[in-house]
Amino acid sequence: MTERTFSIIKPDATKRNLTGKINTVIEDAGLRIVAQKRIRMSDAQAKTFYEVHAERPFYGELVEFMTSGPVVVQVLEGEGAVAKYREVMGATNPAQAADGTIRKLYANNVGENSVHGSDSQDNARLEIAQFFTDDEIVG
Ligand code: ADP
Repeated sequence: MTERTFSIIKPDATKRNLTGKINTVIEDAGLRIVAQKRIRMSDAQAKTFYEVHAERPFYGELVEFMTSGPVVVQVLEGEGAVAKYREVMGATNPAQAADGTIRKLYANNVGENSVHGSDSQDNARLEIAQFFTDDEIVG
């Protein structure tokens, strides 16, 4: 089924000029980038976005990292986009990520791991709505 997922190219990747290379991996996997913008995430936005991790020991560090530089927020569309993008991203920790995945290719470490992708269709809808209006998405 054609569906949408939400993606973020994180500050460690924008800093190293990897936006184009990451987009190539995304497009080569058959996912279409139907919306994209480069923003500076506010502290409030990052806190809301990662609210589910509020009790985790790395929460403060994660919010600080996500607001430390520009990010590129994206909506990706394709067959089974949520699961497909999780596969293309690779494991959270790049040391455990499969060959050819974005995190294996580019991530620095488990925190600075270059990309975010929604983990369910429900979360994808919520995350897309946090950063995009309907008319910004051109499918
Ligand atoms: P994923 O992004 O693969 O869905 P999680 O939802 O578990 O992973 O974690 C969200 C984000 O929090 C990770 O992508 C990473 O940036 C950060 N993170 C996760 N685990 C750690 C950790 N042990 N130390 C620092 N940051 C972490």
